[in-house]
Amino acid sequence: MRLSVLITGALVSALASAHGAEETYSSEQTHYSESLHAQSPPLPTILANASDYGSCAAASWPPSDVGTQLIPQAPDDEVQAMMKEIDPVRIQAIIEKLVSFGTRHTLSNQTDPKRGIGAARDWIAAEMRTLAAPSGGRMKVEVQSYIQPVASRISFPVRISNVVATLQGSTDPSRVYVITGHYDSRITDVMNYWDDAPGADDDGSGVAIMMELCRIMATRHPKATMVFGAVAGEEQGLYGSTFMAQTYRNASVNVEAMLDNDIAGASVGDKGQKDPYTIRLFAQGTLPNGTESAARVATRLVIGGENDSPARELARYSNEVAANGATGMNVAIIYRLDRFLRGGDHSSFLSAGYAAIRFTEPNENFAHQHQDVRVENGTQYGDLAEFVDYDFTARVAKVNLATMWSLANAPGMVRNVSVNATTLSNDSEFYWAASNEIGLAGYEVVWRPTTAPLWTHVVPVGNVNTAKVPLSKDNVIFGIRAVGSNGYKSPAVIPFPVS
Ligand SMILES: [Zn+2]
Repeated sequence: MRLSVLITGALVSALASAHGAEETYSSEQTHYSESLHAQSPPLPTILANASDYGSCAAASWPPSDVGTQLIPQAPDDEVQAMMKEIDPVRIQAIIEKLVSFGTRHTLSNQTDPKRGIGAARDWIAAEMRTLAAPSGGRMKVEVQSYIQPVASRISFPVRISNVVATLQGSTDPSRVYVITGHYDSRITDVMNYWDDAPGADDDGSGVAIMMELCRIMATRHPKATMVFGAVAGEEQGLYGSTFMAQTYRNASVNVEAMLDNDIAGASVGDKGQKDPYTIRLFAQGTLPNGTESAARVATRLVIGGENDSPARELARYSNEVAANGATGMNVAIIYRLDRFLRGGDHSSFLSAGYAAIRFTEPNENFAHQHQDVRVENGTQYGDLAEFVDYDFTARVAKVNLATMWSLANAPGMVRNVSVNATTLSNDSEFYWAASNEIGLAGYEVVWRPTTAPLWTHVVPVGNVNTAKVPLSKDNVIFGIRAVGSNGYKSPAVIPFPVS
């Protein structure tokens, strides 16, 4: 075990006496108090900061035989077939076409047929209508727009347009999953709307990923509704995605997850680091102000639920279904809203009360983002298509596909999940609202040590609305998830105490 600190028996003794511990053990007397244990257990090896988390003795506490080790949901034949349809050549063609509009700045020309954000908007809309045609009317494309008055980074009133394709779910159409990329672009001066702003990676990559999924899904019949969006105004202040998210919020649409792909196309960092088989996934723990009641926020802190926001459960879910040999990708979860000094369209959905995450390449090159296109001291600056790795972008699209498809074909998230906390007990008893949705087979209790990043254990409990497990809620994090007859699982939901 590398980089680990082995705490010796003598040190344990010193620590124990320093803390006034009742147990007596030392390097000479390596056992716990005889009065507590008939047989003296051996002094355990205690390790801190182990690099291999899974083998760190302290992190795997409590030892328990409740449930079995969680085996991630494997991609089935249908998912694998869809993944094979993702085409790096098409991704390249989309990105190069977007670059060809010169600039896609939100304040740029909207009537010129060749240059500016209007031409880009019209091309994306026409292309997505073509992609939607095989759906036989189940996928509808709209250009959703509004006039944004003068505001931060908006120097004159401007029409902001999102191109949105909605694929109607076959059995649960009121449950919605959204994927977006932003098609506006910028250079060094965020107000410069006249010079070239190619935006190949930021965010031609996200738009191309979204459009590839749109194309492949148009011929499929997911149970829940899928939405594919190209949003604008991101660089000026998330205007397009804010409008989209608030439109859903105002209509009380049940958006169960939103995936934002932004700067997801390059695999080489500015120090030359190469990591073409990893995508970062940013997920916030804190819920934005006003999206959860003050009482619930207080309870969340009391029960240690701050690492189990809906966005974090969505992140764990994506990791479980999409980090595998079929995508060829690691999903590196970052427990953080976004990178420092940066923002993205997932924030708009989080602020509207929805679970939302952001995918971004593992190593960024800041010479290729938000830069005037130029050569300086022999270095090429600018967000040019030549810096995009199309095979990498295709693999990121596979991660999105596995996540979206799994979500939309699993049962919805379990509602009204609670835990009995009215009496002191070392068992844990849960309740939830049974769902009568089509294709639901039953439920599972999942759990993990409180310091573990991902769910580690699963307990199938059948098609019921309550379950009791012989493991203390004081020591682990529990979640409840639904299982479909197709084997697909929903993201987990943590229980709050019965109130
Ligand atoms: Zn961006």
